[in-house]
Amino acid sequence: MSTPLLLLDDTELAGVVGPPAFRVRQVKRWLYEVAETDPRAMTDLPTTLREHLSTIGVSALETAEKRLGDGGMTVKWLHTSAGAEIETVLMRYPRRTTVCVSSQAGCAMRCPFCATGQGGFARQLAAGEIIEQVLVAARWLRDEAGGEDGDAPRSPTRIGNVVFMGMGEPLANYTAVVGAVQRLRSDCGIGARHITVSTIGIPDRIRTLANDAPPVTLAWSLHAPHDDLRDRLVPPNRRWPVADVRSALHDWRSAGGRRITIEYALIDGINDMPELALRVASIARDLEAHVNCIPLNPTGGTAYRPSPHGRIRAFVSALREAGANATLRQNRGAGIDAACGQLRARHGLEHRTR
Ligand code: SF4
Repeated sequence: MSTPLLLLDDTELAGVVGPPAFRVRQVKRWLYEVAETDPRAMTDLPTTLREHLSTIGVSALETAEKRLGDGGMTVKWLHTSAGAEIETVLMRYPRRTTVCVSSQAGCAMRCPFCATGQGGFARQLAAGEIIEQVLVAARWLRDEAGGEDGDAPRSPTRIGNVVFMGMGEPLANYTAVVGAVQRLRSDCGIGARHITVSTIGIPDRIRTLANDAPPVTLAWSLHAPHDDLRDRLVPPNRRWPVADVRSALHDWRSAGGRRITIEYALIDGINDMPELALRVASIARDLEAHVNCIPLNPTGGTAYRPSPHGRIRAFVSALREAGANATLRQNRGAGIDAACGQLRARHGLEHRTR
């Protein structure tokens, strides 16, 4: 079976398309700007080339399930590709759209509050499988969201931002993620400052990323400000403790990397005490980082629960009073298993119980 066009790099695509050289540019415009999946619709190509490309096929992903939540403002997909299950979430806001992509099928980091971590690691994703998640969301926005409210769509109908916050640890699939970032910029027209790579913190890879993709935003999934607690919540902390990640993040900034954000999932009675907020604020001030707090998205099968509203507000207030820039984000898609790993877990459960 031929490799789908979206999995080919530029050299491989040129080999498939053949001369003249501008044909590759034409095909890439259809693939990445128009998000076309049927080569027979690529009307500026010769008929023979269209037929040839249609025998190869465009897509690697097949959609197994799609769910809409928050009144159509959140869309979640479960895709399959060569035996792997891949989740993607589109979040729509009045002035922007953000697609959250997976970088791995599953995750080996085993954070105990995360459904993906509980499901284990399946395999790395290719750059093309990451890009296609964005293209599927772009196609949905164009074809299904564009005219939903007559003349006034409730949210932009183009993808504005891409965040690597879905399944997997992006820096553990480094080559594919950097390749996907480069193609998002060059082929899909998404600026680097609209791309966020979220990591639990792998120091060597943070330093390398500063050279390979410095204009992206880096988000550090902190979740606990000291090693004792973080060893429990983010097990790789035993190998890459807080101080080592902080040192790498300083190097990232020194190398010209953009401002860092700190991600902090508030977990009831575990990491939401005011004294921890003071320590998080101290780290944020030191790194000149912005803190994004979000109530934990509850997942079945664990004892971890989101913090109650009062404690969340108190935590964010303590951060601000201690001089940190902090934002409280709302969970999206609670009714559609939108948290990372939930839909895949439920899908597997439903299949096993059929
Ligand atoms: S929280 Fe992120 S790094 Fe941790 S297990 Fe889940 S996907 Fe992996």
